[in-house]
Amino acid sequence: MDVQAVKNHLLSLLGKEKVLTEKLDLMYYSYDSSFLTKMNPESPWAVVLPESTADVQQLMKYAYEHHINVVPRGAGTGETGGSVALNGGIVLDLSNFNEIVEIDQKNMQVIVRPGIVHAELNKELAKFNLFFPPDPGSSQMCTVGGMVANNASGLRAVKYGCTEQYVLGLEVVLPNGEIIYTGGIKARTIKNVSGLNLTKLMVGSEGVLGVITQIRLRCWPKPKARGIAMAVFDQLDDAPATVLEVYQAGIMPSGIEILDSSAIKAVNQYKPEIALPDAEAILLFEVDGNPPSVEYEGNVIKEVCGRRARNVEWAVDPERMSQLWEGRSVTATAAARIRPDGTRVFAGEDISVPLAKVADTLRAIRKLSEKHGVQVVNYGHIGDGNVHTAPVINPEIPEEVERANRLVHDIHLLAIELNGSTTGEHGVGAVRRQYAEIEHGNAVDYMKKVKQAFDDKGIMNPGKLF
Ligand SMILES: Cc1cc2nc3c(=O)[nH]c(=O)nc-3n(C[C@H](O)[C@H](O)[C@H](O)COP(=O)(O)OP(=O)(O)OC[C@H]3O[C@@H](n4cnc5c(N)ncnc54)[C@H](O)[C@@H]3O)c2cc1C
Repeated sequence: MDVQAVKNHLLSLLGKEKVLTEKLDLMYYSYDSSFLTKMNPESPWAVVLPESTADVQQLMKYAYEHHINVVPRGAGTGETGGSVALNGGIVLDLSNFNEIVEIDQKNMQVIVRPGIVHAELNKELAKFNLFFPPDPGSSQMCTVGGMVANNASGLRAVKYGCTEQYVLGLEVVLPNGEIIYTGGIKARTIKNVSGLNLTKLMVGSEGVLGVITQIRLRCWPKPKARGIAMAVFDQLDDAPATVLEVYQAGIMPSGIEILDSSAIKAVNQYKPEIALPDAEAILLFEVDGNPPSVEYEGNVIKEVCGRRARNVEWAVDPERMSQLWEGRSVTATAAARIRPDGTRVFAGEDISVPLAKVADTLRAIRKLSEKHGVQVVNYGHIGDGNVHTAPVINPEIPEEVERANRLVHDIHLLAIELNGSTTGEHGVGAVRRQYAEIEHGNAVDYMKKVKQAFDDKGIMNPGKLF
């Protein structure tokens, strides 16, 4: 392929305002937040910055005709190499294509372009007492298009679910430039069971089926009150057992987080003034709703936790709530600081296991960490079994990199062995595709047929998912 000819053609097609071809600009697109691309960055041939569906359509028609790979990209906060052109081609940066087309307050919906940043959208929705509940830790940076493509979620998924539960319809530009509307061309409904559910198929498709150019999202009424409980445990097994008992008491908290002893230690080392109690595990519960229901649920959580925990505290005062939550807020940063020459790598960081196996998982990860000689910090969304492990290494030392890679491979296999998944939220991208067959068996053959049906030339984000 004559890369210079591709650049020239893009410039004449879309103009220099919407096309980047300089080496320095392209370098910025050579990585996302994954360990893989930190170690192996790959610059694209060119970057296109569309401002309309027509721009995307023009690009796709050209790419299709000339068999050129196209990799959609939001903010590049993904942890899997998903938005990097690892096999050459054009990166399509959708972050400038970011309007809120309509807040349809009467129908509890919002229509947006893919580049809108999650936190910005919720700021606008709050003016109408609405919100789009999935809440990734990257909320201030990531785009809603990236969230849809990755089916992102966060610590409130336990009550509110993942992005997929809110996507009512999509506009998608297919690899050949054709445009489709999923969820009904004209529909403004919340319920719709007509036809094969292509919306669900597109959500979580990680850019391998088409480019999402418009999103119709369901919104929820914004809760009026919140409360936080912190419970401290001397036995690791008591933490998941308590989570189950809270559910059995009829309570569905909006967040349930765990810090194990490694995370507690990391937080206290990073910010001693937080002074988390030394323990095997700490659980943090968040409850939201109306003031009387929050009070009731808080009391039940306090009573249930009290059966097994060394200590429980419940707070509704905003200042005390943020103090209780602070340890969790700084965990990711604290993990990166446990050794002065180390850094946290995003690899094997996102397994999901059944609730009943969380304690076994944490114990097994500790053993693997010893076996491979790699320090780890464990925390996560225990309410839905999503365990975040932060391996901390010095990436300048190749031998440490090798050990980390062996560790995360074993963590992925462990997740599958324990009836879990290699990823609960961050997706597959390039880094977890080697596990597709082990995790899904011959269903992968049918995934590939679906891909073929949408992308017969294989130009849409190749080398990702499977
Ligand atoms: C600090 C930090 C915290 C995080 N916390 C969470 C968390 O709590 N929960 C969670 O789920 N994730 C989390 N993530 C991962 C990441 O932020 C999410 O997956 C996010 O949804 C990615 O959005 P993005 O705009 O950065 O997408 P990108 O990284 O740019 O792209 C992600 C994937 O989506 C595809 N894509 C992007 N836009 C489109 C489009 N318009 N059409 C088709 N395909 C598209 C890309 O090709 C790529 O495969 C975190 C990341 C960081 C760095």
